[in-house]
Amino acid sequence: MENLESKLKALPTPLVKLESSFLKNHKISLYVKRIDLIHPHISGNKWFKLYYNLLEAKNLGKNTLLTFGGTYSNHIYATAAAGNEYGFNTIGIIRGEEYLPLNPTLKFAEDCGMDLHYINRTQYRNKAKVVYITELKNTFGDFYLLPEGGTNSLSVKGCSEIIGKIDIDFDYICTPCGTGGTLAGLIFGLNSRCKAIGFSVLKGGEFLINDVKNLLYNYKINQYNNWEIKFDYHFGGYAKITKELIDFVKVFEKNYGISIEPIYTGKMLFGIFDMVKNNYFQKKSTIIALHTGGMQGLKGLQNKIDKYVTIS
Ligand SMILES: *Cc1c(COP(=O)(O)O)cnc(C)c1O
Repeated sequence: MENLESKLKALPTPLVKLESSFLKNHKISLYVKRIDLIHPHISGNKWFKLYYNLLEAKNLGKNTLLTFGGTYSNHIYATAAAGNEYGFNTIGIIRGEEYLPLNPTLKFAEDCGMDLHYINRTQYRNKAKVVYITELKNTFGDFYLLPEGGTNSLSVKGCSEIIGKIDIDFDYICTPCGTGGTLAGLIFGLNSRCKAIGFSVLKGGEFLINDVKNLLYNYKINQYNNWEIKFDYHFGGYAKITKELIDFVKVFEKNYGISIEPIYTGKMLFGIFDMVKNNYFQKKSTIIALHTGGMQGLKGLQNKIDKYVTIS
């Protein structure tokens, strides 16, 4: 029988150089690391975050994965796909009420066999509490718990391996931040070389600094200071968009031929271009921007986006 590790085959994740007179004039080399291409459904950073967790669940003999997320969550989508492909039952605890018909994210999750349960926002705040997890075990039986966004020590370890997949020298590596798990992994993987920059996609995301420190502390490494988080590019908060952001995304796609979404990667790239313009980066720097994937989430935003699209 094939074991799980040999089944977890990743697709190539090309490093694509962006060519433009703007970047050339600022003497900046900017590359997009296409981890969005690593798997058709377990997209981008979610692949790296799930990798060691799936192996751990298998090692512990767990047949069921349980996790949490919003109604358009990339993590819910990826976990459902992983369960389907690698032989786990999956339970998704969803924030909010059930709406029928299911939106495309939850429809996909259910089609993958995920068992969906809905809890209100107040209940959702208890999602990491021991009493609540115990209650869930009483209801659903034994499971392997993946926290919201899949962020835990094993996902930090998984994301640290993104660094090893970049085969050029660079000065900066950038990622969007939701829970900070991916950023913590990059910092761990850099091991004091270069600099990691996270872009908060949340309004009031300042708590991310402590969360990232705590994640690194699990590896007994809290002395790194080659990283920072930018808080100026959330565009009003999670999944909030503006015309300026959508225009940027459309122009970016047209100029560079890479599809992005405005919830995560679009906000980060807007930030990077703005920082290049403001000469934040030293001349002749090489920057890596992670395309963390999440294209499935676009479906949930399409109506909002259409309102802003004035260029084609
Ligand atoms: C989940 C997600 C992120 C955020 O990752 P964190 O590790 O939670 O900070 C970034 N980009 C995409 C596309 C995601 O789906």
